[in-house]
Amino acid sequence: MAHSFKAAVSVLALLILTGCAATDNTARQVVVDAANAMGGVSAVQSLDTLEIFGYGHEAYQDGGSLITTEPTAPEKMTNMTAYHRVIDLANDRTRVQARLYRAFIFAGEAMMKGLPINQSLDGEVAYDGTRRASEEAALTRRMDMLAFAPVAVREALEVGSRVSNRRRQDNLTLVDVETEDARQFTLAVNNDTGLPVWVRWLEPHENLGEITQRAEYSGWLPAENVLLPMSINTVSDWNDTVMLRLHIDRYVVNGAIDNLAAPTAVRNAAPPVPNYTVNAEPVADHVWHLTGNNGANSVLLEFEDHITLFELPTNRAWSRAVIAKARQTVPGKPITQVIISHHHFDHTGGLREAMAEGITLVAHEGNMAWFEALGAREVTTYQDALSRNPQPVRTLAVDDHLQMADANLTVDIFHTVSNAHMAHGLFAYIPEHKLLIQGDLFDRNWEVYFWGNTYDDNVAYRNLDVERDVPIHGTVTPIADVHRILDQQKANARALCAQVDSIGLSLPGCPLAWD
Ligand SMILES: [Zn+2]
Repeated sequence: MAHSFKAAVSVLALLILTGCAATDNTARQVVVDAANAMGGVSAVQSLDTLEIFGYGHEAYQDGGSLITTEPTAPEKMTNMTAYHRVIDLANDRTRVQARLYRAFIFAGEAMMKGLPINQSLDGEVAYDGTRRASEEAALTRRMDMLAFAPVAVREALEVGSRVSNRRRQDNLTLVDVETEDARQFTLAVNNDTGLPVWVRWLEPHENLGEITQRAEYSGWLPAENVLLPMSINTVSDWNDTVMLRLHIDRYVVNGAIDNLAAPTAVRNAAPPVPNYTVNAEPVADHVWHLTGNNGANSVLLEFEDHITLFELPTNRAWSRAVIAKARQTVPGKPITQVIISHHHFDHTGGLREAMAEGITLVAHEGNMAWFEALGAREVTTYQDALSRNPQPVRTLAVDDHLQMADANLTVDIFHTVSNAHMAHGLFAYIPEHKLLIQGDLFDRNWEVYFWGNTYDDNVAYRNLDVERDVPIHGTVTPIADVHRILDQQKANARALCAQVDSIGLSLPGCPLAWD
């Protein structure tokens, strides 16, 4: 980690280290050259505080929420305005404040208008305002700070950092860096300018096992006595998803900054660890709603000789808890299938767990290549159930309709039509109990509804007689209440559009296309 004393002695240390292994020195020299290109080793080492002002876009759900899984489907981005990042390099602290709003239709009003974020890191302690954040957030924020090229170069210069594996790639020279706190990244510099071109790093990922990101830097201009990049473009190895585009308006170098130390109460609080308790609420004979994490549910369908789940959402730990609860609720029958409403990452966080269990994925045929790629991801560092126990991906593709039926249950699975949120989605209907099981057609907790008549269109298209809605997000709801709540949510969307229009602005989805 960065400390001013170490910074002061690093140049001396570099001279002393000259006698060490040749590979390490030549690798270190790449970092020294990069610092010199940026204005000099001492100028880089004198970077104590940085403020970054700008705006940009970030990938929604890491690129896991497009209209379909087709490679031609456009990314969905979240706009970032009022971006203000403060970095306290001397103390390993950082804070990002911004307002986020969806560049596409969304169900939360604040997320349409601009939700403020306030995310900090003090050493190993991540916190949001006065609330301690998770250890995963601490890791992500640490890597995010390290990946900012000036920070990467400054940290790589530290005596405690190990720089190795110098190699060439086209017109770049690459080195691997391991910091004193054992964080690893690869730095690429341009052979002509000596300036950093990108920083690449690896993180664990619920849906993908792990993800490699590469933050690319361009537009180097002088700020005080160093060169700093005016643009950052971060791309992941998952379908080359653009994770972040940041346009920088202004830097403040070594100015006075807020104290970013975590408040004592935050520092003393344990990082939150989610408690995944699953409740099995009976819905009808052989049907349970598996609830409990306040975000997304599953549905247990008990056939004569096996269990089929509808959805394994959220993340791997929640999905393990769902699988355990299903086995406890219906002992002695294997879980053989999971029906997936649609591919969005909040609905597929448990798929790698399902694959590791040998469970067959039942989904619209348009998703299967994507699921197979997801299951075949190479995991090098952050092992999970699937990487420890690799299994072939078992799939059952649905085109327009598939019926699962035995003496216990008849379940009709239909392709979702008339929907702007997903084009390769499925929902289920149980005729005997008049249950409609769906993900993202309706959620009673949504504030604004931009999806028109998709719910009723699907019911009418399939000529269904629905009594109760069994949702992945929300609670089991009689159909009359579904209609009443939908009407309110649509009225809220109408009001939001009118409000925005009245001040001469606009939003995705406004004016409402279906009104
Ligand atoms: Zn969705």
